[in-house]
Parts: sequence; structure tokens; C-alpha cells
Amino acid sequence: MSADADRTVRPDILRRLRREVCDLHAELVRWGLVTWTSGNISARVPGADLMVIKPSGVGYDDLTPESMVVTDLHANVVEGVHAPSSDTAAHAYVYRAMANVGGVVHTHSPYATAWAARGEPIPCAITAMADEFGADIPVGPFALIGGDDIGKGIVATLTGHRSPAVLMRGHGVFTIGGTARAAVKAAVMCEDVARTVHLARVHGPVEALPAEHIDALYDRYQNVYGQRAADRERGTDS
Ligand SMILES: [Zn+2]
Repeated sequence: MSADADRTVRPDILRRLRREVCDLHAELVRWGLVTWTSGNISARVPGADLMVIKPSGVGYDDLTPESMVVTDLHANVVEGVHAPSSDTAAHAYVYRAMANVGGVVHTHSPYATAWAARGEPIPCAITAMADEFGADIPVGPFALIGGDDIGKGIVATLTGHRSPAVLMRGHGVFTIGGTARAAVKAAVMCEDVARTVHLARVHGPVEALPAEHIDALYDRYQNVYGQRAADRERGTDS
């Protein structure tokens, strides 16, 4: 990132994003998606090759807007007193590769991660899943933390896929969205459907809905239901 690009970011935009990303982390706790300091959220800074991300190793109760870290899209710290999340390289890779992504979330939420541990996609077996994901939730490759491998696996799996969530094999969940809030919603819904389909499987086999029904449900939910465009942008749809 050039110094020129840095100067183009308005301070009020960064302040707002630091607050938004900080506040969204409380949703991960509220929905039971994270344990101790695991999990992280980032948001792309509009109009700049920058992102705002959780600091590494800071407890959820201690997160503040000021403790959020601003990095460039190669995971170099631009602003912040803490080191950024250890998953920063994965988030950065996604933003570099997927121009429409404005938010990325990572959790080890237990039911979804149990599917990841088995390396098994979650079959699109219920209407709420067809609405939100439009497909099975896919499994991405196993990758070690630190370099670009996790990011490459996320991008390779989700490019051209309807699902905003990927189960990284033997690891956990990454979700993407037009905004950080939309990515948080996908993480919450991913855990919800992972739990429901797991519970169904306890007592018998589960099959995906017929493809034509999935297509119709997804199309209606994404394009017709409610105030779709505005809701998706805000991540406030229900
Ligand atoms: Zn992880």
C-alpha cells in the first residue's frame, strides 16, 4: 500500500469501522460461536487497500474500538498498538482475490467445526439453509495457519459458489459477506444449520432437498423476500 492510499482514508470512516468491527465481535460471543480468544472479524476499508481486524490474543471483554488493528491487504500493520489476529493473512488474501467481499469472519463454532473435522459438507436439507446458502456448505482444504494457504483454500472453494460459508477441513468456519455484518450473519446461520442437520442425522439419514427446490428457495430469498437489496447491504435481513 502506498502512503498516498493511506492518506485518502477519512478518519471518520476508520473510526466508524473500528467501532463496527469491535461491536460485531460481541455477536460471536452472544451466539456462542467462540471460546476464549478464538475467532475474528474483519471489514474492508471502502476505497482503500486496507482492512480493520481484531487484535491477536485479546479477550472478548477487553476489545475496544481503539484496540482494533488497521492493516493493508498484505497483513502489514498500518495503525494500531496490538498485533493483528493470527488469521490476518487469510482475511487479506480473501480481500485481494474477491473484490465484492467487504467482511470476513472466522470461528471454530462447535457444530460446524465438527462437520469440518469429518471433512463432510453440510447437506442443504432444510429450507432455511436453501434460503441463506443456496447449496451444501462446502469443505475447503486443510491448510496450516500463517501464509496464504488458508486464504487460497477459502477463495478456491467459495469462488463461483452460492454459499458464503466454507468449512476449512480439520479447522473451522470462514464466512464472507458484502459487509462484516453480513459475514457475521452467515457465521451465525452456518452454526445454526450445522446443529440442526447434525440433530437430524442422529436419528437417521438426511438428504439434500431437490436441486430445483433449492434453486427456487434461494432465488426467492435472495431476490424477492423482504427488502432484499437494502437488507443484504446492512446485514439486517431475517
Ligand atoms: Zn482458526
